[in-house]
Amino acid sequence: MEAAGVEPFADILVRHGLSLVRDRVHTLQVNTGYLCNLRCRHCHLEAGPGRAEIMSRETMAAVVAFARRFPFQAIDITGGAPELVPHLPFLIEGLAPLAPRLMLRTNLSALSVAASESLLALCVDHRVVLVGSFPSTNPSQADAQRGAGATETAIAMLRKLNAAGYGAEETGLELNLVSNPVGAFLPVSQESAERKFRHDLLRKWGIAFNHLYTFANAPIGRFRTGLLRAGNYERYVNTVVEAFNPSAVEGLMCRTLLSVSWDGCLYDCDFNLALGRFSRGRKLHVSDVVELPPPGTPIAVGDYCYACTAGSGFT
Ligand code: SF4
Repeated sequence: MEAAGVEPFADILVRHGLSLVRDRVHTLQVNTGYLCNLRCRHCHLEAGPGRAEIMSRETMAAVVAFARRFPFQAIDITGGAPELVPHLPFLIEGLAPLAPRLMLRTNLSALSVAASESLLALCVDHRVVLVGSFPSTNPSQADAQRGAGATETAIAMLRKLNAAGYGAEETGLELNLVSNPVGAFLPVSQESAERKFRHDLLRKWGIAFNHLYTFANAPIGRFRTGLLRAGNYERYVNTVVEAFNPSAVEGLMCRTLLSVSWDGCLYDCDFNLALGRFSRGRKLHVSDVVELPPPGTPIAVGDYCYACTAGSGFT
């Protein structure tokens, strides 16, 4: 993300007397690869049906061994579409006993094309928290980002998840949604978005969920390409730069999270993973890790970090 005249992210931190360094690591994010059934316009990983990079069973075993050596409070499985990765059940079964909170991100439509009955039963058994992408309660807007028919499929899947007990307080089966803007603008506040989604989903489709998280699109990958093609790149970059909020730095996810890629290497976050910028500046496989980055370790930053510190920040 290099737009003319933008103050480098590292410099703005210095100007505000800040540094972006690690706190104690408590979350492991596991990216199972770039294979996906969708080809969303905002995807920073440029995931899609043609991508061959997926986590092997051998790498999954190495990730499980890593999580056993270094216990995490939360483990977050993401992709691409993890449901399309053949040995996902092996990964879930291996990780579930190792952390109090295991999350699985889903675009919802991949969950419906995967062997969803057995995968859903496995998630219920292990109390896996499901985090579904649901960009907008306006189907035409959401389909514009995710592809024709994506909303209809997602709605059908959400109904199925509700029927299985997900999204109901009394079951303890947590169903959260994630929304990101469908265009070159920042999201509205998380609180008001959650209120609107709760109302719309219940009224239009009878669907319940626990929490909604909003995040700003990082201007990298396919989103960047789309911005450039539409002539909106500089305007979007200026929007996130102008919205820089120094007080958001302390709560950034990269301070407490480590991200492992489909081939088992460590990154400070999924955006750095997308850009091939290794944690601590060197390629390190989970099998070779002897210690987690201690508090105070610098984090690899770039101007794309402005998307995480805009407004109230996105963690
Ligand atoms: S992109 Fe966001 S999460 Fe990643 S290092 Fe920058 S601020 Fe942290």
